[in-house]
Amino acid sequence: MATLIDGKKISTDIKDEVKIEAAALKEKGIEPCLAVILVGENPASQVYVRNKKRACEYCGIKSLSYELPDTTSEDELLSLIDKLNADPSCHGILVQLPLPKHIDEDKVLLKIDPKKDVDGFHPYNVGLLSIGKAKLKACTPAGCIELIKRSGVDITGKKCVVVGRSNIVGKPVGMLLLAENGTVITTHSKTKDLPAVCREADILVAAIGKPKFITADMVSDGVTVIDVGINRMDDGKLCGDVDFENVEKKAAFITPVPGGVGPMTIAMLMKNCLTACRMQNNLE
Ligand code: NDP
Repeated sequence: MATLIDGKKISTDIKDEVKIEAAALKEKGIEPCLAVILVGENPASQVYVRNKKRACEYCGIKSLSYELPDTTSEDELLSLIDKLNADPSCHGILVQLPLPKHIDEDKVLLKIDPKKDVDGFHPYNVGLLSIGKAKLKACTPAGCIELIKRSGVDITGKKCVVVGRSNIVGKPVGMLLLAENGTVITTHSKTKDLPAVCREADILVAAIGKPKFITADMVSDGVTVIDVGINRMDDGKLCGDVDFENVEKKAAFITPVPGGVGPMTIAMLMKNCLTACRMQNNLE
């Protein structure tokens, strides 16, 4: 039986660390602040935004909320970002995705000052990540690394197989594992004999978006499994990309879904807000 990696506990630990550091900054007269922008009324996005605001409250980070109507033009959104870029009291800017179809997401993400890009999606920060110098790292991938390290698993020299190569999860996870001295293979839908490649893994990260895709015959005994997948099943329950019930019998460490990677994303966002605030105040 595998040891369960408790994302809820680890994410709370991280938020508690942020809280202490945010309080220390406040003693110096600096209040970390995150601006959250939501355009339109996507119910899932509304929940994410609410959770982000709650996390800010928990950590002692000020949150500015911009809930704009569906009819907001691209220019209006870009002007708001310009205003927030220029505001020294706002340290992080988060634009909740997806945006309505008439707004070009790439243009919007490029507009955010890289120093305030707490999602870590700006090409400048992606570039820093690829040369191992990122301070603002994409939240979900950075959360995967924290889960591994805080479980006491040493990444150095390990064979790490990432299944999925999206820009928001698979690729950055691969780059972060490499920065931790893992030997990384990033796989995708065109990979030949994926099960054999996966069986090589000491550490396996699944970011595919297909329920129970990673089965027990695709892993070796003693593997550490990080399941990024969030799939909503017909019965309303959430399910990961890993066949948890069977893979757990072979793994040494495994994340559940829910309660694994999920809660880490917001915790790492809070950490990025703090880092952005410190950077803008020449504290790092
Ligand atoms: P994408 O759909 O953007 O990428 C999926 C990747 O999986 C692609 O690279 C694709 O390969 C690969 N893939 C698909 N089918 C196969 C296959 N048969 N064999 C091997 N590889 C395959 O998804 P995301 O990266 O955005 O998300 C992945 C999962 O993580 C989703 O379930 C999502 O909900 C979840 N997620 C969770 C987050 C969190 O916990 N906070 C945050 C973000 C995502 P190819 O490139 O060749 O098409």
